[in-house]
Amino acid sequence: MSLPVESEEVCARCRLPRAEWGGVGEGYPKLEQRYCCRGCADNTGCTCLEAGPAA
Ligand SMILES: [Zn+2]
Ligand SMILES: [Zn+2]
Repeated sequence: MSLPVESEEVCARCRLPRAEWGGVGEGYPKLEQRYCCRGCADNTGCTCLEAGPAA
C-alpha cells in the first residue's frame, strides 16, 4: 500500500514543504497546482520565509 501524493505536498514552484507554508497552511491554489503563497502562484517571489508568524 502506498499513501497518496498529497501526504507530502510541496509548493509547485519553490518546493517548500506544506508544514512551512505561511498563513493557515492551506497554500494558494492556482491552475490545478498548489503553491505555498500568492507570491509563488503569481511568480513574484515567495513571501513565506520573510512574513513570519506575525502575519
Ligand atoms: Zn512556494
Ligand atoms: Zn511562499
